[in-house]
Amino acid sequence: MAKAIKRAFVCNECGADYPRWQGQCIACHTWNTITEIRLAASSTSRAERLNGYAGSATGN
Ligand SMILES: [Zn+2]
Repeated sequence: MAKAIKRAFVCNECGADYPRWQGQCIACHTWNTITEIRLAASSTSRAERLNGYAGSATGN
């Protein structure tokens, strides 16, 4: 039951994001500006949205 944490690699210079780390940003051609960031799984917000949708549908 591992938490699904989405990882992304974002360039500090231009904000481009990549699925994998790389030394040079393809968008702005700057070296060593890409850093890894971890995002909380979006499943929570999606579940909330589904719950709200189902709730309103059931309530009405
Ligand atoms: Zn960049």
